[in-house]
Amino acid sequence: MAKPRHELRRKRDKIELALFTGAPGSAAEVKKELESIAQTVGPAEVARVEELARVAEGRGSSDAYREQHGVCGVQRFATSGGATIYLMKVETFPDHVNNVYLICDGGRATLYDCGSQTAQSQDELRRANQILKKVFGEPLGLDDVKDVVISHAHIDHFGGVGEWKGKAKIHVHEFDARVLTRFEERIITAAMQVRVFLERAGVEESVRHELEQMYVFTKQLFVSVPVDRVVTDGDQVNGFALHHAPGHCPGQICMQVHNVLLTTDHVLPRITPHQSPESITPWTGLDHYLISLERFRKIGGVDLALPGHEEPIPRLQQRIVEIEQFHRARLETVRGLCKEPHTIAQIAAELFGTQVGYGRLLALEEAAAHAEYLARRGQLEVANLEDLTRSPNPVLRYRAA
Ligand SMILES: [Zn+2]
Ligand SMILES: [Zn+2]
Repeated sequence: MAKPRHELRRKRDKIELALFTGAPGSAAEVKKELESIAQTVGPAEVARVEELARVAEGRGSSDAYREQHGVCGVQRFATSGGATIYLMKVETFPDHVNNVYLICDGGRATLYDCGSQTAQSQDELRRANQILKKVFGEPLGLDDVKDVVISHAHIDHFGGVGEWKGKAKIHVHEFDARVLTRFEERIITAAMQVRVFLERAGVEESVRHELEQMYVFTKQLFVSVPVDRVVTDGDQVNGFALHHAPGHCPGQICMQVHNVLLTTDHVLPRITPHQSPESITPWTGLDHYLISLERFRKIGGVDLALPGHEEPIPRLQQRIVEIEQFHRARLETVRGLCKEPHTIAQIAAELFGTQVGYGRLLALEEAAAHAEYLARRGQLEVANLEDLTRSPNPVLRYRAA
């Protein structure tokens, strides 16, 4: 399903760009380009194509379309305190889209995340800048940004930060700052932890080697940058409060803009944010994640959550409950699997089937995050203790206690 969705987005972006910047178009052309692919994605997309076709022939309101769907992945939101937030969809890696946010308030422009370092990501951010000026009539733009807040140190969210060096103040949480400032060190030390993890997880040697290489390869993707301000929970940027939400990433920070909460990868509307065990990186892990989720249930005055991927979340509290229930159910599943002793690799295979490439590492990490949570509470025990006394880094087999 993923591919047609992306193909539709790319084609529709082109058409919207043309129509909303004054090029002539026709309903027939819009339908010819988009209709059949929209049908493979879903009825909501077909309805949107209809609306766009009406805009193309001057029958529909382009203002209504712009406010409801956005244009070229740029959507506008107004906060209760008078700020304007632009959500800018940017393809940071092939078929991987991030939401970058520009917050305009009292003549100040703040950027929350900056996309990746790829040419496409940078181009799409520039295109979004044109759209918010030309189509939305926003007087501020990327050139006015004085503060860049990095939501967390995953490369799709911060990889493009080098563009802002010397132009804007770069803010990042204290636990993630070193990823930006000492990227190479971070990759090499994390790869070491991953190596130990994969061995214990019972991953065969050839696959281990492949996954490690993949990990180390990312070292080439980014050149370290200095950060201007290291932040912590409760700090503010231009009056907007930062909430530390460790779990998915150690130094993840969500930002509250009046009644809107930018939730980055802490809360996503459709997928559950990726989890990895704390044994690889401190302050990740399901324990921190669930505590952070619980804390977010108590943040008051939030009418809308804007995530780091996918679409806005109108009911944040409900989504938090769903995600929590999902993990509780997965914990039960993992415990059930371990009635017979299982390695992490075996648990991952049962949960996610056969995975290839980076997906394999993600599946292993997700399985391990759940096993770690249970083992910490004595709900799983190590079934092969005798191996632990004989070998420096043996494969661990977990059994339900
Ligand atoms: Zn992330
Ligand atoms: Zn992300």
